[in-house]
Amino acid sequence: MRRKLVAGNWKMNGRRATNIGLVQAVSDAARELEGVDVWLAPPAVYLLQVAELMQGGGLGLVAQNAAREQDGAFTGEISAEMLADAGCRAVLVGHSERRSLYGETDAAVAEKFARIQAAGLVPVLCVGEALAEREAEQTVAVVLRQLGVVIDACGIDALERAVVAYEPVWAIGTGRTASPGQAQEVHAVLRAEVARYSGAVAAGLRILYGGSVKAANAAALFAEADIDGALVGGASLSADEFVAIARAASSAR
Ligand code: PEP
Repeated sequence: MRRKLVAGNWKMNGRRATNIGLVQAVSDAARELEGVDVWLAPPAVYLLQVAELMQGGGLGLVAQNAAREQDGAFTGEISAEMLADAGCRAVLVGHSERRSLYGETDAAVAEKFARIQAAGLVPVLCVGEALAEREAEQTVAVVLRQLGVVIDACGIDALERAVVAYEPVWAIGTGRTASPGQAQEVHAVLRAEVARYSGAVAAGLRILYGGSVKAANAAALFAEADIDGALVGGASLSADEFVAIARAASSAR
């Protein structure tokens, strides 16, 4: 049985003063919840602060991005090894904002994925189709291509130490959520694809849904067989909303 996972992606939000209350509220609530892992992905500049605030609370620290390269002459970049050193457990990779705004290609995503695992961290591989691709009935082709590039580069066993997040681009930050049925359909396709290589890896793989998840729609999403939790953007900035989502995941066991 896969343990549920709820991860909050703060994106480029936060301030030292306001992070304190948010992390403490999530940490206090998460301590009482069973059957769910709760992870937070603050901006890199706040990782050390959040790591300290999380101490003893059982939360997982996640970075939003990692460099493609190892330590060295790469001004402005942060290596996966540094993120491990800062106390991270996982790193988002292939988020649609990185792909569309910063030109991250499938090949770059696969390289980062490998680099993150080599540093002992868990990649959270984000895949998802744009609206035009869904309308052109390309959803399955797009997500299988994005997943396939990583499987080809890193091997199927790499997915034993990874999380996948299905995030339809048209649902991210738009208030428009995929229906539980639409999301489940894609999650099932992703799991079936992994099962073609390894039934055991497929059975253990946590596949999160992301795209305007909030307290009001979380329980219905988590009731689906292949939805193992959520990657939450906007709603993770409110302790009440985010905790309610984590609570829904805990009750969905
Ligand atoms: C995200 O950034 O991964 C995300 C899903 O954002 P939102 O929940 O705001 O749609």
